[in-house]
Amino acid sequence: MEHAAHDTEERMEAALDTLRKAGHRITAPRRGLLTVLTSEHGPFSAEELHKLLPEGMCDPVTVYRSLSALEETDLVRRCDFGDGIYRYEFNTGEHHHHHIICRKCGSVNNLEVCFADSLERLVRQMGYANVTHTLEIFGTCAACQAAAKA
Ligand SMILES: [Zn+2]
Ligand SMILES: [Zn+2]
Ligand SMILES: [Zn+2]
Repeated sequence: MEHAAHDTEERMEAALDTLRKAGHRITAPRRGLLTVLTSEHGPFSAEELHKLLPEGMCDPVTVYRSLSALEETDLVRRCDFGDGIYRYEFNTGEHHHHHIICRKCGSVNNLEVCFADSLERLVRQMGYANVTHTLEIFGTCAACQAAAKA
């Protein structure tokens, strides 16, 4: 997904504002993580994010701690692809989506449709509050199918 540069800057400013208001300090690693996550969709594992940060900025433990601060303030969303590795993406809020993940190469594409609205309505009628859902779809991508045939 591509965004105009000014969109990225706006997201960044809004995110820093959210962190400040929640009482979190704006540390260099937090700023660095937000820079990566607002400019690229990902989702990225903590290890990948650590590699994407400027070299020597911080250790992996700091990346984990910073990510939980960002998650706590709803700035990032954690994705679980069922392989035991958590991946993180910027939570744009206005733009709910799901992922299709290739089992072979791990490539991730966005699915811009969601059919879960009626399910959420149903559980609200059952008396539940704070209803959310996660849904990730898995398959073998066209490139991997072609490679297997070759
Ligand atoms: Zn693939
Ligand atoms: Zn996503
Ligand atoms: Zn959905």
